[in-house]
Amino acid sequence: MASYDYDFFVIGGGSGGVRAARLVAGMGKKVAIAEEYRYGGTCVIRGCVPKKLLVYASHFSEEFEDAAGYGWTVGESRFDWPTLIRNKDREIARLEGLYKMGLGNAGAEIFESRAELVDNHSVRILNSNKIVTADKILVAVGGRANHVDGLEGHELAITSNEAFDLPELPKAILIAGGGYIAVEFANIFHGLGVETTLIYRGAEILKNFDMDMRRPLHKAMEAKGIRILCGEVISKIVRSADDRLDVTTSAGKNLKVDQTMLAIGRVPNTANLGLDKAGVRVDEAGAIIVDEHMRTSSENIFAVGDVTDRVQLTPVAIHEAMCVVETAFRDNPTTPDHDLIATAVFSQPEIGTVGLSEDEAAGRFDHLEVYRAEFRPMRHTLSGRQEKTIMKLVVNGADRKVLGAHILGPDAGELAQILAITLKAGCSKDDFDRTMAVHPTASEELVTMYQPTYRVENGQRVE
Ligand code: NDP
Repeated sequence: MASYDYDFFVIGGGSGGVRAARLVAGMGKKVAIAEEYRYGGTCVIRGCVPKKLLVYASHFSEEFEDAAGYGWTVGESRFDWPTLIRNKDREIARLEGLYKMGLGNAGAEIFESRAELVDNHSVRILNSNKIVTADKILVAVGGRANHVDGLEGHELAITSNEAFDLPELPKAILIAGGGYIAVEFANIFHGLGVETTLIYRGAEILKNFDMDMRRPLHKAMEAKGIRILCGEVISKIVRSADDRLDVTTSAGKNLKVDQTMLAIGRVPNTANLGLDKAGVRVDEAGAIIVDEHMRTSSENIFAVGDVTDRVQLTPVAIHEAMCVVETAFRDNPTTPDHDLIATAVFSQPEIGTVGLSEDEAAGRFDHLEVYRAEFRPMRHTLSGRQEKTIMKLVVNGADRKVLGAHILGPDAGELAQILAITLKAGCSKDDFDRTMAVHPTASEELVTMYQPTYRVENGQRVE
């Protein structure tokens, strides 16, 4: 057998790459990992983690307002963006250190450099120009923010990368996109006091979510003061004489803002990675093509996470990495399970969801029962806030199996995690019905909706 410098070389130090490298090094194998930017990848450095910290920061403005109904007088409040960013940076640096420490403790060799494939067993470490060899290789280089080709003034726009480190908080921002990042950042900036506009090309934000989440969230965001323009895109961005931005939309509207942020999806990070030299095939979007075991077209090379452009979520990349470890190092070929992935949008109110939307379910099943509750959460009875919570279960009328669960309201993400277990376990509506409520909570609605709100027969709603 040929001898290599390493048993396993991982390109990309994000969630997927770090997990695989750590596990395999922990098995006593000779492992190296290379990361060109910072260990932790998108999720830890400029994605989920700093985003959630910014979400927490943005909640305080409403909490100060809500406190009055409970008898509190909150003094004059002021927000300081540099303090938030400094504290966020300190936390991110701490997590990055933990990632590296975990790798080091497991015995993996850490390269702080870009690495590119030279052939299917060789990798060039760019900062030393050294070529090393490995028996097996994992490509886990993630994705990067998409840009609009040909948009005049696109170089004046930021993406989520820069949004985390702006030197100052803009007075007004325009955010393009209707997906997770656009919606979450619109709520963050609004909550921090920024005049916020969202512009989305489609008819309603959050295309793949249940309509009972999309429309009410849209309305709630508008009620807070976020301006939402649907059916439009940015057509031009120009720097104005007062050093702000003049933005023109496809509908001919003119907006004056301090920042324009593009949140229009993410694309795989595969350019100039040497994939062709290693026999690794990509699709037309540049995503690495993998089989059911995350194996690429090159037998000893695997790929996980956003670079495969299947499900762009951190826990999925980690799960896929663990499957690769089983397949490649434990002689246990393992296929990632992508069914019933719960997800949350950290908007205000939040969305938590798992399983099929009503529309998706209606396309697949002839008889649906839909259970839907809309109510003002108890907390808002005294706060005076009018915001509603919505809980919805989509049930297959034939066997009473719960196909989808959707929540719009406080802590919806936390609830989606628990609901995911029930759907994964194949629970039926009868299981929900015989579960005792926890009182007084909002989530007790999930087990006390005894009668369907309506049915859907062969795609048609029946009251
Ligand atoms: P999404 O895929 O969620 O949304 C992209 C949005 O951009 C869509 O609304 C899409 O429109 C729109 N769009 C795409 N191309 C264009 C274009 N050329 N011009 C105008 N609009 C365009 O991507 P995000 O960037 O928001 O996030 C990337 C991924 O990161 C997500 O898919 C998600 O998996 C992950 N993520 C998860 C989070 C979470 O779990 N809470 C948070 C943030 C990100 P259309 O709908 O019409 O296609």
